[in-house]
Amino acid sequence: MSNADQDSWSRVKERLRVEVGDDVYSSWFARMDLEAIEEGAVRLSVPTRFLKSWIQSHYAEKVLACWQAQDTQVGRIELIVRSAVLRQATPVKPKPELAQSAGHDSANRFNSNGNGHHRPVTVGDAGMHEALGGSPLDPRLTFDSFVVGRSNTLAHAAAKQVAIARRTDPVMFNPLYIHAGVGLGKTHLLQAITWAGNAAGERKVLYLTAEKFMYGFVSAIRTQTALAFKEALRGIGVLVIDDLQFLQGKSTQAEFCHTLNALIDAGRQVIIASDRPPSDLESLDDRVRSRLAGGLVVEMGTLGEELRLEILKARVLAARAHHPSFDVPLPVLSYIAKTVTHNGRDLEGALNRLLAHNKLTGHPVTLEMAEREVRDLIRPQEPKRVKIEDIQRIVARQYNVSRSDLLSSRRTANVVRPRQVAMYLAKTLTLRSLPEIGRRFGGRDHTTVLHAVRKIEGLVGADMALAEEIEILKRQLQE
Ligand code: ADP
Ligand code: MG
Repeated sequence: MSNADQDSWSRVKERLRVEVGDDVYSSWFARMDLEAIEEGAVRLSVPTRFLKSWIQSHYAEKVLACWQAQDTQVGRIELIVRSAVLRQATPVKPKPELAQSAGHDSANRFNSNGNGHHRPVTVGDAGMHEALGGSPLDPRLTFDSFVVGRSNTLAHAAAKQVAIARRTDPVMFNPLYIHAGVGLGKTHLLQAITWAGNAAGERKVLYLTAEKFMYGFVSAIRTQTALAFKEALRGIGVLVIDDLQFLQGKSTQAEFCHTLNALIDAGRQVIIASDRPPSDLESLDDRVRSRLAGGLVVEMGTLGEELRLEILKARVLAARAHHPSFDVPLPVLSYIAKTVTHNGRDLEGALNRLLAHNKLTGHPVTLEMAEREVRDLIRPQEPKRVKIEDIQRIVARQYNVSRSDLLSSRRTANVVRPRQVAMYLAKTLTLRSLPEIGRRFGGRDHTTVLHAVRKIEGLVGADMALAEEIEILKRQLQE
């Protein structure tokens, strides 16, 4: 492959990273490699089948578009699993005669350093190691730096409780399931538990992102050490899984279910974070969902202004440990707390900019400077996460029918319209898919939901009264 191709690839990756954001990028694309560009087709490889199918179903168009922005000749993307190639070429057990003939080409195919001791690389090794070693932890995310406020008191208390529990203590809530929107402190809390638990030394705490869980497991199956993997997982005291909403794939889910059951039944603590409640984890089957809901489920709300201010103050203090001259007057902090409403990440981003500006120019931090620096982080209030139950409740009330009417199979006009309105609102105000919405409306088919959405979309253009009703409903739901 030419250097020019590699350059293009670097630029495509950069573009992709900007478009999907750092988190998504590192979850799904970090291990994607360019294999070849031939006749308008770009061949990319990823290490697992799971990644391949995920990228194919969620990001195929985006990847293609990024390539086309770079190189208009590209017409097609082909994704392959790179380990499949490697595995075919790798003997499961190195045969003695191969090992002896280390000097020969055939045995040295995988020998990158030429010292003859290097054994064939199997993808599973790294996967296993990473999976069992846990995902990387950020040393800043501890209980000490976690600020407690109204929206997270319960989650914090529960997290503290499980972190300090001793091996012999009865397990109080299992699993502990924490859910909240982006940037509201889930990862912070989970890593705090991991640090604190491991520091206490009572029980081994393993922190895994769902993606790492899948990657480790898929690799383990490939190298036929699934049993060893399970044994190792079962040997740990506390399992912490972050971003469970990313857990995908039937076999992974089955394995997740086994692991969960095995750990819980053995009295080990399981802690999970996700961006949605268990009932909304569409792709998991009912048994897993109910097992997840069977422990303690806690939601963390949006950070209130007071809490944002406290977080900022704590951050400035922490920054001053390294930059003693960094001083942010209280009015500036209050201004940021008031206007940068989005989430914890934006608060951090805002302070980082002030710090950078202060360091680079030597100018003190003033309100004017802050206004200039954080302008683009000021966003309208993040829309509230709307729940399907709330939609059903409020629509039912509005039209004077019962919620079970909406879920029933009745087809009289007085329930059909409200039901369609509710489905329409579910589609427009939540991120739920059509099949999920169908399921939540009494087990209807996704085509029924689609029909309802189209119907209402068609009507609101012509029917002013209906359009207004829907506006009012939306406003009630988003308050
Ligand atoms: P999530 O995992 O829910 O998306 P994170 O845990 O990554 O969110 O939090 C985003 C940022 O906000 C992190 O820098 C985190 O330290 C900070 N943050 C969120 N909540 C708090 C809190 N209660 N106290 C201190 N920092 C917080
Ligand atoms: Mg997180």
